Amino acid sequence: MSDNNKSIGNSKKIRILMYHHISRDKKFVTRHKNIAVHIEEFKLHLEILQRFGYTTITFRDYSLFKDNKLNLPRKPIILTFDDGYESIYTEVFPLMEYYGMKGVIFILGDKEIKYSMWDFPELEPLPLLNEQQILELHEAGFEIGAHTLTHSDLTTLSREKAWDEISRSRMLLEILLGSPINTFAYTYGKVNPLLKELVREAGYKHACGTYSGPPTIDKDPYEIRRILINGNQNLTSYVMKLQRPYIYAEWLWWKYKTIFYKNNNK
Ligand SMILES: [Zn+2]
Repeated sequence: MSDNNKSIGNSKKIRILMYHHISRDKKFVTRHKNIAVHIEEFKLHLEILQRFGYTTITFRDYSLFKDNKLNLPRKPIILTFDDGYESIYTEVFPLMEYYGMKGVIFILGDKEIKYSMWDFPELEPLPLLNEQQILELHEAGFEIGAHTLTHSDLTTLSREKAWDEISRSRMLLEILLGSPINTFAYTYGKVNPLLKELVREAGYKHACGTYSGPPTIDKDPYEIRRILINGNQNLTSYVMKLQRPYIYAEWLWWKYKTIFYKNNNK
């Protein structure tokens, strides 16, 4: 590995996108734009990423990069999928394989939960990935991360209960896969200093939020900001969301709101 090759990668350039459910049902997407993206649209997203020269990586790759064991591609991007809907296996997996891409899937530790009942009735329940599908995705190079045991809002739980959701989901998924689980995603993107501490204590190397945390991945590994992709945007805004100014604008807006909120609660 020459020094020249080593300098290709730049962790500041890593883009991190957040998806949930990919659907063939246009009516469902219209009803649930916050979590659903239509399959044809998702296909165009992958097409755009390929044409613009992005290469998908995982948090595992990022860890290897930090340990000087792996170079980053010129334009690295992490595609994350929260909640572990079955559509990740039936729709996302074949398409991403076709494009030679891989992603990160955040799933629940409690495998007794077969449907996404947590936001019912606002959100119609969807089937979740079964163990066999999770194993297949893992073997194909997708990274599996934990997303609590039961999709509870961690900020409403006692320290003990939150610890159980965070640590036991890691343990159960590690038993299922027979390999380490190093990445966590906070439910509802809700994160606070205590939760970050518990996630670190539980042994995770990274944790993802949504609209919070610094603009680049290397500043705070326990509050990684992601760009939400939903059924609401057209292709122009999808491309815009990948650009640096958009990410910094979202970050500044969050900073402003945090300071404003603090000052008004003194
Ligand atoms: Zn979730």
